[in-house]
Amino acid sequence: MRCFHAPESLAHDPDFRITNGRVTRNAERAERGRLLLAGLDRLGLVPEAPPRCDDADLLTVHTPEFVAFLETAWTEWQKLPNAGAEVVPNTHPQKTRSTYPRHILGRAGWHLADPSAPIGEHSWTATRRAADCAVAAARAVLDGDPMAYALCRPPGHHSDADSASGHCLLNNAAIAAAHLRRHHERVAVLDIDVHHGNGTQAIFYDRADVLTVSIHADPMDYYPFFNGHAHETGQGAGEGYNLNLALPRDSGDGAWHDAIRQALARIAAFAPGALVLSLGLDAHENDPLRGLAVTTNGFQVAGEMIAAAALPCVMVQEGGYLSADLTDNLAAFLGGAMGKAPETFATDGAR
Ligand SMILES: [Zn+2]
Repeated sequence: MRCFHAPESLAHDPDFRITNGRVTRNAERAERGRLLLAGLDRLGLVPEAPPRCDDADLLTVHTPEFVAFLETAWTEWQKLPNAGAEVVPNTHPQKTRSTYPRHILGRAGWHLADPSAPIGEHSWTATRRAADCAVAAARAVLDGDPMAYALCRPPGHHSDADSASGHCLLNNAAIAAAHLRRHHERVAVLDIDVHHGNGTQAIFYDRADVLTVSIHADPMDYYPFFNGHAHETGQGAGEGYNLNLALPRDSGDGAWHDAIRQALARIAAFAPGALVLSLGLDAHENDPLRGLAVTTNGFQVAGEMIAAAALPCVMVQEGGYLSADLTDNLAAFLGGAMGKAPETFATDGAR
């Protein structure tokens, strides 16, 4: 299986976050990238550096203002008096917003929906290269590979057309789906990150040609809070083409696999030409952002289920944060998808 990773993304190491009113360290550390690379290595997978994708790939999903903001925000931010090391908004437009602001503080509030997606010196390069990885994986599948994996950092599924939040910047999965859509009449996105894929849902919410399905912890009591409920089914032409499967907090393998089974049945009925999998690993029982209680073996079974769907599949890394299990969880999922027995990696001396 071809895998894509851009070494430049390791320079993106965001620091700022607010948790329960306290300034804490951001969870999307560069160390995640190294742990995920170790998961690939355990399966003998060697990632390729992707070619640069076209700007048009970004602009079919995102607004020009948002892309330009991501590219220039850090440089402009540094011109502020006593500027911090990262772009972090401290004001946000209300629902009555009407005028796109000129000042960097106003644009930071406009485009960054919460303070969990700080932009540092290397963030634009990392997110641009993450999008390159997603498009390269889509190209591999369009060229006939049954599946491909993109190790994207930062992740993307919380970003909509015009704004970022929750550790995400560009929406890599949506960019891959839009790229695939140029070659297939219908494309499906399945998001198994523990958090609802609110950005991806919003991007395709009024479209019948891209089915979006998300399996996540119930957002009544969990990030991203404002979306991810069962009654959100799409709008206009997209009515009926968005499916949210919210699970009670701390649900384990059984409920999670039932939801994946239900999602794959809906996707099979849609008969897409290709599937984009938003592969979050933060549903794991030991993830620091814990919302569900999926086991490492549960990820392997999920990989087997996705492979059994027999759809050309672009797997795009989303969440999954620092824990001793992150490497195992990626190896277990991809091993399951590739039909590799668990002992292939479970007995690896590097563990
Ligand atoms: Zn997540």
